Amino acid sequence: MISRLPVFGVVLALLFVAVGATAAVAHFWDGNHWANSAIDYRDIVDNYDTELSSARVDWNLTTNNPTELYDCNCTGGWDIQVGDANYGANDMPGWSGGYLWSELYIDLNEYYMGGYVPNKRRAVITHEFGHAAGGLDHHEEQGRIMQYYVEDYYDTDGLYQLDAGSVGELNDLW
Ligand SMILES: [Zn+2]
Repeated sequence: MISRLPVFGVVLALLFVAVGATAAVAHFWDGNHWANSAIDYRDIVDNYDTELSSARVDWNLTTNNPTELYDCNCTGGWDIQVGDANYGANDMPGWSGGYLWSELYIDLNEYYMGGYVPNKRRAVITHEFGHAAGGLDHHEEQGRIMQYYVEDYYDTDGLYQLDAGSVGELNDLW
């Protein structure tokens, strides 16, 4: 069974509220990250290869990003496997989960992604890499690609690449 990390993220967020920590909360999954900053992903998507490649190129071109993504073209030894399927109306265009920091999965939901323009798909993919490659949790501020809803980070803010604040958090973590 794969334990889905978004549940963990929600629990963590509630915990922070419960102890009253409102400022300078680190937006990290568990405060750890991949052992290597060169992170391999296996691409098994059927529909979004172009957007996935664009997201990887953008990620690697982002100034001061301490991590790099590689499409391993492999069947084993990957860090992250990226796939897509129609998961129906579950309110999530994409999510990340699996085993920290040994085997993670990014799932893209065709139910939503199929209706998005290419840059909005890139936004979702970059957001999920923020979780699965970067170790970032959700962020509530406008101007962050790690906001929970794509309606906020893409529709409102127009983000489909890593924003400077998220890069800062990556450097704090890594
Ligand atoms: Zn997310």
